[in-house]
Amino acid sequence: MTDSSDYSDFATLAVRAGQQRTAEGEHSEPIFTTSSYVFESAEQAARRFGNEEDGNIYSRFTNPTVRTFEQRLAALEGGESCLATSSGMAAIMATCMALLKAGDHVLCSTSVFGSTTVLFNNYFVKFGVEVDYVDLANTDDWAVAIKPNTKLLFLETPSNPLTTIGDVRALASVADEHQCLLVVDNCFCSPALQQPLKLGAHVVIHSATKFLDGQGRCVGGAIVGSTEIVEEKILAWMRSAGATMSPFNAWVFLKGLETLKIRMAAHCAAAQELAEWLVDLAQIEHVYYPGLESHPQHKLAASQQSGFGGIVSFEVKGKRTEAWNVINNTRMLSITANLGDVKTTITHPASTTHGRLEPEQRAAAGINENLIRVAVGLESLNDIKADLLRGL
Ligand SMILES: *Cc1c(COP(=O)(O)O)cnc(C)c1O
Repeated sequence: MTDSSDYSDFATLAVRAGQQRTAEGEHSEPIFTTSSYVFESAEQAARRFGNEEDGNIYSRFTNPTVRTFEQRLAALEGGESCLATSSGMAAIMATCMALLKAGDHVLCSTSVFGSTTVLFNNYFVKFGVEVDYVDLANTDDWAVAIKPNTKLLFLETPSNPLTTIGDVRALASVADEHQCLLVVDNCFCSPALQQPLKLGAHVVIHSATKFLDGQGRCVGGAIVGSTEIVEEKILAWMRSAGATMSPFNAWVFLKGLETLKIRMAAHCAAAQELAEWLVDLAQIEHVYYPGLESHPQHKLAASQQSGFGGIVSFEVKGKRTEAWNVINNTRMLSITANLGDVKTTITHPASTTHGRLEPEQRAAAGINENLIRVAVGLESLNDIKADLLRGL
């Protein structure tokens, strides 16, 4: 059997990294549905609990199927270590709870996932963690907004849903200069298109629910970074906090990783074509897609991503009524808040994913009432276009 040191290409790692075959010689990774593990003796149990011997104790701490997923995703992100979590939000929560304390300050991009903002604004404040929001695209604003107690910079790039790009290299050096950590939510790109750690970020967050699964089956998340951060700090917290990934979900995500690269290539190609088609339609006011040369940060996106992603957002002429009309007239596209699926999904961000924000926050984030987000799936593009045209 080969081990991971025999290969380093993404395509191979996606299929092979982390697999530990058991004596049964199984070809596909087994699902270890066990909550705990048996020790050979009381002495061994004591050694395991005392951290004197590696090995499983309890599936809240480690599980072989989950471990395989973690090792594979770490390899794909080019990180030392990965910790799988029960959801993408659990990954964000665990990172913040483990790395921050009362009195610390966080700088967060104005255009992040709605629940991320809610977590910071409504819950972390209760524990004395301050947050300020900064325009993702304006690197200088980040440097200016840093305070003596700033510990963490948090962003998504491309952002959801407007596909704004953050300059990961530049923001990583801002973070380094001020001894902060740059945390990047890499949900929209996945490691197949962007590897933030290689651009200087310190921690990568995933909602595995999206492209990593790719077929809308399970909710899960992950944190990738150095062993010092992920194992010694975040895993240590998680052992007690318990927001771990189930072995079954880990297995589904492992299968997802195996096809990630080819799915992402197909999502990118379809999204590019759809975006270019939308630009030319009279009913459309604006199209947001980093692959368009008209996207203000097209060159920056090309410098840090190997593809422009599968999400296209656009504003229709009109207001909420016109946007809802497009959504309600589709027959095939799935009206759902999920994204990163082989089935194309369509969402009205202002009333769903970003519906809990205050209107001013929504306006600051640029989420207008006539905005529609499409996560382009793998159906025929002709069928996707025809479905959108029904309400346009
Ligand atoms: C969906 C999403 C999350 C949250 O992930 P869950 O798995 O739903 O908890 C975080 N960030 C981004 C960018 C997302 O799209």
